[in-house]
Amino acid sequence: MTRLVDTIEDLKAEQRYDSRGVPTVQITVITKGGAVGISLAPSGASRGTREVSELRDGGVGFSGLAVKKIAKNFAVKFLPKIKGVSIFDQDLLDQILTEPDETAKTWGGNFAIATSQAIAKAAALSLHLPLWQYLRQVFHQHSGLAWLPNHKINLCANVLNGGVHALGGPTFQEFWVVSSQGTMAQQLETIAEFYFALRENFKKNKKLTLVGDEGGLVPLRQTGEETLSYLHKMLREKGLLNKLALGLDLAASEFYTKNCYLVDGKKYSREQYIAYILKLQKSYNLAYLEDPAAEDDLKTWLALSEQLAHKVWLIGDDLFTSQGARLKEGIEADLANAILLKPNQVGSVTGLMKTAALAKKNNYKTIVSHRSGETTDTFIADLAVAINADAVKFGPPCRGERLIKYERLLSIEQELNESTKVEF
Ligand code: PEP
Ligand code: CA
Repeated sequence: MTRLVDTIEDLKAEQRYDSRGVPTVQITVITKGGAVGISLAPSGASRGTREVSELRDGGVGFSGLAVKKIAKNFAVKFLPKIKGVSIFDQDLLDQILTEPDETAKTWGGNFAIATSQAIAKAAALSLHLPLWQYLRQVFHQHSGLAWLPNHKINLCANVLNGGVHALGGPTFQEFWVVSSQGTMAQQLETIAEFYFALRENFKKNKKLTLVGDEGGLVPLRQTGEETLSYLHKMLREKGLLNKLALGLDLAASEFYTKNCYLVDGKKYSREQYIAYILKLQKSYNLAYLEDPAAEDDLKTWLALSEQLAHKVWLIGDDLFTSQGARLKEGIEADLANAILLKPNQVGSVTGLMKTAALAKKNNYKTIVSHRSGETTDTFIADLAVAINADAVKFGPPCRGERLIKYERLLSIEQELNESTKVEF
């Protein structure tokens, strides 16, 4: 990739806080040439059981979620392993970072991913390249795919929140509007105007304009079906039905037990649940369904895939947890046709890219996603451009930690338009 030489000189780990006020880790990587990469780890609430684990201090404070003690040990332990290694050897560094050690399974979901991202940022700075451009080189190297042309990314915005992100809301976790027309700046404007109209409508109807963990408004004491019907009506009234598609992240593992699904107070057997989802899809023309079945209920996944895969993006999040091995099983069994990509589920930039490459080679759609506990780090915006993701899920245009990712996406779009003089 490059013949330049720059090596890791220093590493710092410090406790910071995510958008829910939960402790998280900030990693700083400094190279011999003076490049400084800083990254913060996000964290999820509706977590797949196969995500790599996060390391936390335990004990009483923050219900055991602090990371201060581990942060102290981390640099002491890891710096000797990576000091002097080329900052451009992301693969080797990620291998070292994700190796299990004697005290824990891995440093995984928080320390390793923040370090891996900080390394990539420092490398890009060292080369005076925009991060997305550096990451595209790394992806190209790992994927063996042809060089990627610039392309447009769909924006999936979960404008209404429920599930574990908004207690008191519907059982389903996220209600999306998805844009695909125009530049990313135009798409964001369409979504922002619709979100604005939703808020005005809540106010007009004297509903509380509370937002959930990801910035979506919370339809209190409303079922999923009532919420979909409301969204559909609003889109129709605004003349947006041909511009914004509807989608859901059901996060179904959260309400599945003993072969049954419990939705908005009603219990469904597997067969009843499948019929219910098919009915919702048809009634509201749902074009995107994330985790419509529980992560281990492969029978329901398969039944839905047989009925819907030709017309709907069937997206595995908890199903795949961004793990290549899990995705491979899903591809072989024909369970879905799209994957959500969350770097902290797999613990390294290289690991995530390998999964993304496998998805692309098998014509799976790729969606780069935030977590419910986010930070002001914009790494995933650059990552989405680097791998030519088909879509991003960064939340609605509300709350700074979500907006800053859209802002980064738009400035990359502007940069690209200026350099090529064509819209992408
Ligand atoms: C999701 O489930 O897709 C999500 C972003 O939420 P969390 O980060 O809580 O997993
Ligand atoms: Ca999800």
